[in-house]
Amino acid sequence: MNTPWVAYNYAVLLKKGMKKLLKRFVIFFTLAIIFVTLTTCTYTWRATPSNSGSINLCKPHRTQPQMIKIPMFSQTWQIVEDCDVFNREKVGIALLVFYNAWRLKFGDRNGQVWSSLNDLMIEWSGKYRKIPSAFSMDGRPVTDVRISGLALTKTMIWVYVGQNEKICETSFVHELVHIAIWKLKKTDGDPDHLGKKYSGWSMNHNILIQDVNAMLCELGL
Ligand SMILES: [Zn+2]
Repeated sequence: MNTPWVAYNYAVLLKKGMKKLLKRFVIFFTLAIIFVTLTTCTYTWRATPSNSGSINLCKPHRTQPQMIKIPMFSQTWQIVEDCDVFNREKVGIALLVFYNAWRLKFGDRNGQVWSSLNDLMIEWSGKYRKIPSAFSMDGRPVTDVRISGLALTKTMIWVYVGQNEKICETSFVHELVHIAIWKLKKTDGDPDHLGKKYSGWSMNHNILIQDVNAMLCELGL
């Protein structure tokens, strides 16, 4: 006799259960969409330059090195073998971080260091370079040495980049110090670092390099 009543209750319970399940599914699905959207926004940061001629942008399918304009700097360019090494916006930010740290530590009253960063050619390379003579960090002359960076002139640096290396792991900041000293001294960028043959480089420059690289690493650059 109780069967229809039990069946009715069972149907109601089933309907309620389904509703609950559906509600949970909708909540889960909504949260999943929010999560994906948030993480996507976090990890796919992308610059959308306007008024930037295509000549300034890297073409990913090119196999030859390309010369790319660095944003925010008037006459600063880079030569890259691969568009990801390094993205021009990242290099622009790294230059700004360097300049800010330099200005806070040493000042730049006449804007000379700023102008040196605005007239610079940066060449990135995946291959080491060997040169007949150079100086160690403490000023000792070394011959036939494999180098990872070089300030070629007062407006050009060459920097080696290993696989998966970040800007903060290269000698980029070190070479920028040579460029800044070269601009201020006019005659040279103090190639022997802490050595006594050339003047300009001090322990404070070494500290600056460490600090700037730490900041760049923290930024993921
Ligand atoms: Zn050096």
